[in-house]
Amino acid sequence: MLEDTIFHKIIRKEIPSDIVYEDDDVLVFKDINPKAPTHVLLIAKKPEDFVSSIADLTDETAHVSLMLIRKAQKLAKEKRIDGYQLKFHVGKGGGQEVFFLHLHLLSQQSLGLG
Ligand code: 5GP
Repeated sequence: MLEDTIFHKIIRKEIPSDIVYEDDDVLVFKDINPKAPTHVLLIAKKPEDFVSSIADLTDETAHVSLMLIRKAQKLAKEKRIDGYQLKFHVGKGGGQEVFFLHLHLLSQQSLGLG
């Protein structure tokens, strides 16, 4: 495998994570070092949807970023969170540590998931 990051291992359940939502396309789990009462990360699960960073998005993979944003929006709505931040860190200079495209969802409100 060319790319194998910690998030690949989380998808394969080789390392534990606190999963708050999962379907065939997207995995949402709590950030290990939360910066807000709600701080979860959204990633695309399918190998064909793998993108390392927003910096590497192409016309063929742009739908992946939209999928993550839509899922974050739906999750927030479902959990009745009415104010939140969505962040992509882009590149080392942008604070990106894990080169597996992920969307941060942060809120001062709690997700209510314990
Ligand atoms: P980045 O700076 O790359 O956008 O964010 C990576 C995020 O992943 C950081 O907020 C960091 O706390 C989180 N993180 C790194 N390793 C792990 C891990 O093993 N498990 C979980 N749940 N989060 C992680």
